[in-house]
Amino acid sequence: MNFLRSINIRTIPFVICALILLGIPFGVALLVQYDYLHDLERVSTERLNLYESTLKSELKKFEYLPYLISETGMVARLLKDGGSPQSVSQFLEKANTIAGSSVLYVINKQGVVIAASNWREEKNFLGLDLSFRPYFQDAMQSMQGKFFGVGITIGEPGFYISHPVRSGDEVVGVAVAKIVLSPLENIWQEGGETLFVADSSGVIVLASRPAWKYRTLAPLSKATLKIIHDREQYPEFKLRPLSSKTTVRLGFAREVSIGNERFLENSRSIPGMDWTISYLMPQGQLWERTLGTSLTSFVLIGLAILTRLFFRERQQKRFSRLQAIEAGHIRDINKKLALEVEERKRTEHELRAAQEELVQAGKLAALGEMATAIAHELNQPIAAVKTYIASCRLMLKRGKTEDLDPTLQKVSELGDRMGKVTGQLKSFARKSSDKKSEFDLRLAIQESLTLMKHQFHVENCELDLNMSDDPVYIIGDRVRLEQVLINLFRNALDALQETEKPIIGVSLRQVKERAKIHVWDNGPGISEQVDKRIFEPFVTTKKEGIGVGLGLSISYKIIKDMNGDFRAANREHHGAEFFVHLPLSRKKQDG
Ligand code: ADP
Repeated sequence: MNFLRSINIRTIPFVICALILLGIPFGVALLVQYDYLHDLERVSTERLNLYESTLKSELKKFEYLPYLISETGMVARLLKDGGSPQSVSQFLEKANTIAGSSVLYVINKQGVVIAASNWREEKNFLGLDLSFRPYFQDAMQSMQGKFFGVGITIGEPGFYISHPVRSGDEVVGVAVAKIVLSPLENIWQEGGETLFVADSSGVIVLASRPAWKYRTLAPLSKATLKIIHDREQYPEFKLRPLSSKTTVRLGFAREVSIGNERFLENSRSIPGMDWTISYLMPQGQLWERTLGTSLTSFVLIGLAILTRLFFRERQQKRFSRLQAIEAGHIRDINKKLALEVEERKRTEHELRAAQEELVQAGKLAALGEMATAIAHELNQPIAAVKTYIASCRLMLKRGKTEDLDPTLQKVSELGDRMGKVTGQLKSFARKSSDKKSEFDLRLAIQESLTLMKHQFHVENCELDLNMSDDPVYIIGDRVRLEQVLINLFRNALDALQETEKPIIGVSLRQVKERAKIHVWDNGPGISEQVDKRIFEPFVTTKKEGIGVGLGLSISYKIIKDMNGDFRAANREHHGAEFFVHLPLSRKKQDG
């Protein structure tokens, strides 16, 4: 856990790299070993087959000899009746030369050699007591005997094959063939092979390495040693164990180290004999190969990682460069944006200032216009008043008081006229009243028509009234709305002065959520002179003293205060028409 804690996130890629760097060569080494060991196993099995079969055929070659000897009449006779040992030895000598065996000899019932192929030699077998040899004992028991041991005369090791010699049912002696296997060992040695054959006790009896002969694979027990001693199997040999160690590699290959050498061992027992044949393959190549391949893969992986790191570094550098360029671009863009924002703020500020200036200028212009108009409207009556007052004073001086009244009457009329102008101005300046209430538009229209009834009559004007039967409720200042209507009727009557059959039309409709008042006449229509500016203050076509041009602009303001629309137009054929649209009262609608 402490180890894991000590690894932080940043070191993980390096740990993974290190694991790959070490793990893959290790894995490759294992695979190589596995493959190589399998190869060796296959090769060594083939060799083992070969050497086993040559050994077996070598022994088989002589296996028939003791049998043949035992079946020979002169041998049986010699053993039974005491024939001529000399002639049997000669026979054996010939047979031995022809067969190519080492020694052929015959043992009597007591275990003493009575005829031998080597009878001429100084150290021959004649007279030897071999009753202790197992192959003699086996043959006396009517069995074929096989035995490997070292000869007791000249100490030559050999393989002994024996066969009982019978006379009827009785075993009267034993025929033996000794086979020397050293030529086989020489062949192995010359072939540069490493193999050995061990007997059932584990004593190496044949070996391609002379130093290993009569050594054991493991220390022998005392009982085994005693048996060997009693049989005089390997006299003069100490039967010391080889310093060997066996380990099993990758689950199947047996690795044997003998001295400083390491071999892969493949061994098997030879059927029909108590022997085990072992083939040893030097292991040097295994380690060379494993190490070579591991190193190669290590170097290759290292190179691959280095190449990857190199390219990644390069890529990162390129990426950083691009990022730096990008960051530079972004900085430039930001700077530009900041400048633009600054510019916009300044422009906005300037615009606001300009707007304020314009508003101010507009106000001043309106004030100027108004002042001019007021001056124009009032100057003339003031001048007239002055003139009338001057003439009144003159009349008083002259004592013509009877003429004073009509003149003063005119002064009074002028005063009225001036009052009218200022009254309208007051109405223009007035803010929307708070006197809002819900009322039926039909009643407001009726009321204003009643007020204008006299004028309609004087002007001989026809009224075309068209209103719904149901009440049309709106919310607003009823008096001011009537003021708008009266202004419309008065304007229409003024415009109809020259019209032969004057008609004024009024209609009231309710469309969706709006009340629509339509006032029209069949007069000359709105003159082009004022058409576009008809709702602006002091715009008039009327003679001096009749109109000041504030009526429609005041009306416009009143309607807008009531959240309505006010529009003027000329009718298709002749005459003007005005549309007043007002929102209906929600209360009554809902109710
Ligand atoms: P004023 O009545 O003092 O002239 P208004 O603002 O009421 O002021 O009217 C402005 C002008 O609109 C009138 O002078 C006139 O030229 C024109 N006008 C208004 N009503 C009509 C109409 N029914 N027919 C033709 N012209 C009209």
